[in-house]
Amino acid sequence: MGCATLLLAAGSGTRFGPDAPKVLTRLQGRPVLLWSLDAMIAAASVDHIVIMVSEQTMDAVVDLVEGVETDKILDIVLGGAQRQDTVRLGLEHLSGDEAPARVLIHDAARPGLLPGDIDAIATRLEALDDGSSQPPSGLSAAIPTADTLVRYTSPDAPLDPVDRSGLYRMQTPQGFAFTAILDAHQRQQETAFTCDATLYQAVGGRVELISLPQAERLMKLTFQSDADSLEGLLGLAAAAPTPAPAAPAIENRTGFGFDVHAFGEAGEDGELVLAGVTFPGERPLKGHSDADVALHALTDAIYGGLVEGDIGHHFPPSDPQWKGADSTVFLEHALSLIRATGGRLVHLDLTLICERPKIGPRRDDLRARLSALTGLEPGRISVKATTTEGLGFAGRGEGIAAQATVTLQLPTAP
Ligand code: MG
Repeated sequence: MGCATLLLAAGSGTRFGPDAPKVLTRLQGRPVLLWSLDAMIAAASVDHIVIMVSEQTMDAVVDLVEGVETDKILDIVLGGAQRQDTVRLGLEHLSGDEAPARVLIHDAARPGLLPGDIDAIATRLEALDDGSSQPPSGLSAAIPTADTLVRYTSPDAPLDPVDRSGLYRMQTPQGFAFTAILDAHQRQQETAFTCDATLYQAVGGRVELISLPQAERLMKLTFQSDADSLEGLLGLAAAAPTPAPAAPAIENRTGFGFDVHAFGEAGEDGELVLAGVTFPGERPLKGHSDADVALHALTDAIYGGLVEGDIGHHFPPSDPQWKGADSTVFLEHALSLIRATGGRLVHLDLTLICERPKIGPRRDDLRARLSALTGLEPGRISVKATTTEGLGFAGRGEGIAAQATVTLQLPTAP
C-alpha cells in the first residue's frame, strides 16, 4: 500500500524520427527509458514500478530491464493504442488486493526525472490525502512560463501579446490517490484528454501544480533537436554530484600528559581536588595552584597533542598570579588553543594512580565534571584508577600521580 509508478514507454514517437523508438535511443550513452527507471528505483517512496510498453518496444525493454538490479517490484505491461488507454491498462494492472495507495504517472520521454522529484510528489500527495477533499487532490509537475508569449498570424499582423501570468507548461510526473485515478480513467474512456490531470478534473478531482527544482530538466524528448538540449541537461546532472566541496583534510593526534603532586602535611588547610571535583575529608595535595593533578595531566596532554609546550611554559610557577589558581583556567586555555586551530577534542582517557582516595565511587562525578569542562559527552570520557601495590611514593601514600591521553582531530595544514 505504498506508492507505485507507471513509466510510459508505449508511444510510437512518430515526431521523433523513423529509426528507433525514442525511449530506446541513447542520451549521454544511456537509453532514454533507463534514466527515469533509475530515478524510480532510487526514490525511497516507490515500491512498485510498472513499465508500459508497445508491441514495438516490448522485446527491447525486456532486454534492458534484465540487466537492472532492484529489490522493487518491476513489471512490464503492454499498453494500448493511445496514451490514455495505456495509462488505464497500467492502473488496472496495479488494481486488486495489492493495489498501491498512490500512483505517479510519468512519460519515459522525460528522462530528466530525479529521485527527489518523485519523493517530493509522493510526500505532497500523502499530505493532500487528509480527507479535506474527495477525491483527494492530484498533483502535476509544471513549469511557469518564463518567455514573453505572443499570438502570431503573419508578419504584417500585429504581434498579439498573451498575458503569461498563470500560464504553465504541464509536465510529468503526475500523481494521484490510486483508487481515485483508476475510477476516473474507467469513467472517461469515451473522451480523449491530453493528460491525466485534465482527465482527473473532468470527474471533479482537484489538481495542484508543483514546480519542481530544476524543472527544466523535465523537458520532453519530442523532436530530434530536443536530444541535444537534453544531453546537456542530463550531462549536467551526471556531473553535478561529483564535485562535492572538498572536505578539509583532518588528522588525528594523540597527546599524553603526566603529573605528580605530593600530599600536604596532616591538618593543613584546603581540600583535595581531582578533575575539578572535591573530595571532602581527604588530605589536599600541595602545589603552586590548586594542585589538581588530574587536570594538570589532562592539560599537558592537550598541549602535547597540539605541540604547544607544557603547562609550566604557559603558566610559570614563578608567576605569583597562578598561586592557588583554579586549574580549570589552565584546561580552558588548552581547549582554546584547540578551537583556534578549527579542530576538536574527541576523546580523553585519565588514569589516577594512588592508594587514597578511592576513585571508583566518584568515577561518574569526575566524568560528569570533565564533560562540563571540556564539552565532550561522557561517552568520550574515560576515568580509570589504579594503585601501585604499595610500591613507590603512591604506594606509600605520599602523593598522587595522574596520566592522561587525548585524541584530537585537527585540520591538516594545506
Ligand atoms: Mg601539576
